[in-house]
Amino acid sequence: MSQTTPTPHDPECVFCRIATGEIPATIVAQDDHAIAFRDLEPQAPLHVLVIPRAHYQDVGALAHGDPDALVAVTRLAAQVAADENGGQFRFVFNSGPQAHQSVFHAHGHVIGGRDMTWPPG
Ligand code: AMP
Repeated sequence: MSQTTPTPHDPECVFCRIATGEIPATIVAQDDHAIAFRDLEPQAPLHVLVIPRAHYQDVGALAHGDPDALVAVTRLAAQVAADENGGQFRFVFNSGPQAHQSVFHAHGHVIGGRDMTWPPG
């Protein structure tokens, strides 16, 4: 079932299409501003992506364009980690191709359920 189209919206963007229900995803939590769904290629036992419903190309653009949505994204990430991993998680926003961003709709990776290393690769 399609949901209402948020603004801004990019009809070509895969995460916008998940937000509107055009593309299926395993949604684990959501609110008015943000949606959390399982990553297609999980890198850890817990690997959930949290996106704003509206289209911003990265976390910096989201912070400028809709700070309330960034708070909602962070709140949902903490909720998922609390529900599934005792509140422990790594929260990663890749921004730009050099940082390994491949989908240009702001998203935070909620990763957990195994021991992490530092520094990240
Ligand atoms: P990034 O490299 O930070 O841009 O992360 C993009 C993430 O989106 C990757 O971990 C992909 O596995 C994930 N991904 C891409 N398409 C989908 C999809 N349709 N459903 C769930 N996860 C996806």
